[in-house]
This record gives sequence, C-alpha cells and structure tokens, in this order.
Amino acid sequence: MAQRKILVVEDERSIAEAVADRLGAEGFKVSIASDGPSAVTMCAEQDPDLVVLDLMLPGFDGLEVCRRIQADKPVPVIMLTARDSETDKLVGLGVGADDYMTKPFSVRELVARIHALLRRIERTTSSAEGPVHMGDITIDPARRRVIRNDEEVHLTVTEFDLLHLFASRPGVVFTREQLMRDVWGYDDPTGERTVDSHIASLRRKLGQDAVRTVHGVGYGSGQG
Ligand code: CA
Repeated sequence: MAQRKILVVEDERSIAEAVADRLGAEGFKVSIASDGPSAVTMCAEQDPDLVVLDLMLPGFDGLEVCRRIQADKPVPVIMLTARDSETDKLVGLGVGADDYMTKPFSVRELVARIHALLRRIERTTSSAEGPVHMGDITIDPARRRVIRNDEEVHLTVTEFDLLHLFASRPGVVFTREQLMRDVWGYDDPTGERTVDSHIASLRRKLGQDAVRTVHGVGYGSGQG
C-alpha cells in the first residue's frame, strides 16, 4: 500500500511536532501547516489521506479551513479543540469534521483514532459491493459518490459511511452505540452527540426523511 499522507495543522509547535513524530514513526508521511491559509494551500497541493486540524489558528480558523478543504472532495478531518464546550458547539453545528479531540489529548489516542478512521474508509471503498439504492438516491461505495436526480450530493466521509450502512441494511434500526462501533470503530462517551450531529447534517443535505428516527432506539434507513 502506498504511504499514507497526513497533514497536521497546528500553530503550537510542540504539539505539532509531537504528533508529527509519532505519525512518522507509524509510517505516515507527515506535513505540518501552522496557519489557516497555508493549510488550505498544502491540502490542495498534497491531497492528504487525512487532516488533523486545530480549531484556533492564525490567518483563519479551523472551521474555515474545514469548509474550504471539503469544498471539492471529502477529506477525513479530526478536529482539535481547546475545551469540551467548544467541541460541543462544533458538534452541534455539524461543521464537517469526522471526529474531535479536546486538548490536552493523548497522542496515542489520536493515532488510534486516525487508524480507525482510515480503516473505515478503506473498508467501504474496497468493498466488492456495487451501488446501493435508497429511494431516488444511489450510493456508490467504490467511488464514494452519492447521486440523486443525476446530481452529485457532496457528503463528508462520515456522512457517506452512515448513509451507506443504512441503505445496505434497510429495515434495521441501529442504536447510537452500534453506530459508534460500526462506523467510528470505537466507543466514546461523547459519541451520542457526534452521531446525532452527523445525522442532522445528512438530513440537511438529503432531506428530513433520508434517515428514520426510532425514538428511544436509534436510527435507520429512511426509505427502506
Ligand atoms: Ca492553535
């Protein structure tokens, strides 16, 4: 497998270097950007497999970076925040990050989450399955594309994986814990809100009925 590229966007040098060293030791090719504008430029030039993105940055902040780098094609993003309350706010906004970590964080935990996210993407993309249909929506796992009425709908990698899971298992209702395990690959105390926020942004993009809520249980395909 080709060496995976990770872009670390962090203006605190000691954190950036600690993360980069560890990822380098894990076999990743790592670049560091230390402000918003250079993060966007480097992302366009290098086409990284994943971006670790600090929220507070010089130039413009991580939210703006996230928005700009996701404009053309989805790139997996793990967002770093300074406080849990910030994470809560971002999760509520559905900013398009796939995962969040609050500082101070364990570099080992960050690396574990990076591996989990990359494994998940690999699993969907390499699945031998052909396109799955859900009502008028076509979901193509090999190309990670969602088409509705001949138009592509741009989803983040996590939104795509949730939709693909629902569409592949029509009639099945998943609890939030199951979704955390099946999609994110680990269980997290803040996971429930993470799941809710990704469901909310899926609905913003595909319509309220794209996902079915079963109160007190969880979520499933909206058009099974
Ligand atoms: Ca910062």
